[in-house]
Amino acid sequence: MNSKIWLSSPHMGGNEQTYIKEAFDTNWIAPLGPNVRGFENDLESYLKEDVNVAALSSGTAAIHLALVQLGVSLNDEVLCQSMTFSASANPIAYQGATPVFIDSEPETWNMCPFHLETAIKDRIAKGKIPKAIIIVHLYGMPAKMDELLAVANKYEIPVVEDAAEALGSTYKGRKCGTFGDYSILSFNGNKIITTSGGGAMVCNTLKKKQNTIFLATQARDQAAHYQHSQIGYNYRMSNISAGIGRGQMEVLDKHIGLRRSMNTFYKELFKGIDGVVVFTEPNEQLFSNHWLSCIVINNDAPFTKEDLFNKMLEANIETRPLWKPMHLQPVFKTAAYYGEKVSETLFTNGLCLPSGSNLTQKERDRISQVINSLK
Ligand SMILES: *Cc1c(COP(=O)(O)O)cnc(C)c1O
Repeated sequence: MNSKIWLSSPHMGGNEQTYIKEAFDTNWIAPLGPNVRGFENDLESYLKEDVNVAALSSGTAAIHLALVQLGVSLNDEVLCQSMTFSASANPIAYQGATPVFIDSEPETWNMCPFHLETAIKDRIAKGKIPKAIIIVHLYGMPAKMDELLAVANKYEIPVVEDAAEALGSTYKGRKCGTFGDYSILSFNGNKIITTSGGGAMVCNTLKKKQNTIFLATQARDQAAHYQHSQIGYNYRMSNISAGIGRGQMEVLDKHIGLRRSMNTFYKELFKGIDGVVVFTEPNEQLFSNHWLSCIVINNDAPFTKEDLFNKMLEANIETRPLWKPMHLQPVFKTAAYYGEKVSETLFTNGLCLPSGSNLTQKERDRISQVINSLK
């Protein structure tokens, strides 16, 4: 049996272990230390826009702390893109708040500005002003930020930007992860860079960063003894993980180039096959890191999604349906939903394909073989 081809697997750059060794040599084996600061600095210079970054234990923790700082609490409502990974929405429940889900638009697959405004108007008419809006850049594709922020600003509702999948993507030349009142990144094992597990909060003021770190380290007041006036969390990134992150930052742009070349590879491969659309930027104002390359298989295609999924599986190649929308999830079945069937149709017809920056020519050939056998 050929070895497994993964959708997206960790791809080390080479210097990660140097930073980890430094941590061992200086005994900074803790959720603080020079690598944490170094990794934060690296992210700040990469993202530009004078952002302030706090490295945390996960992207989920970052979303949670964003909602905490926006004052989201019991019975509040939070608007969230329906088509996303559950981690975007779970922290709403952690706060005892209620998610309200919004459909995608078909160009970027992200939150539809029209349905967002419809939802806000209706929630206000029903008596509640939503506390926050969680916008995602799915698979690295930037959402329509101008339109979405215009709606958010009109109703003065703060935005949490979930850029977990979009480090290195840009919208009109500006990096994703710099648009929100709070923005978050993830460095989980399958993301474009990894710290084995980790995340970050990107803040537009130093004060927000300091408060994020305060909350992430048990909200300890200024005193010699341990005193607490607020509930805190243990969400800081470890100095070991941050060492991996520093090594990964050195190869981030190179790895984005390789992910984008996987997208080009699929465009070539599916060229001339009716009914199969490779997900790409709708115009030059959007630049996707193409974290995952995805296709939509319509009815006029010569094969079904299931055919392709099963053939790939037989060849030991991982593929995966697109994210199942949150309003279709058993756990959120009572949540309100605004939209039509865009996210549902994408879920029915879409598939994610192996997209790693570390795929070899031999592995690409194995993928080509399966797809060509279905033509
Ligand atoms: C991965 C991911 C998260 C969560 O990040 P973790 O670091 O795994 O907690 C949140 N939102 C989206 C869209 C993601 O893909």
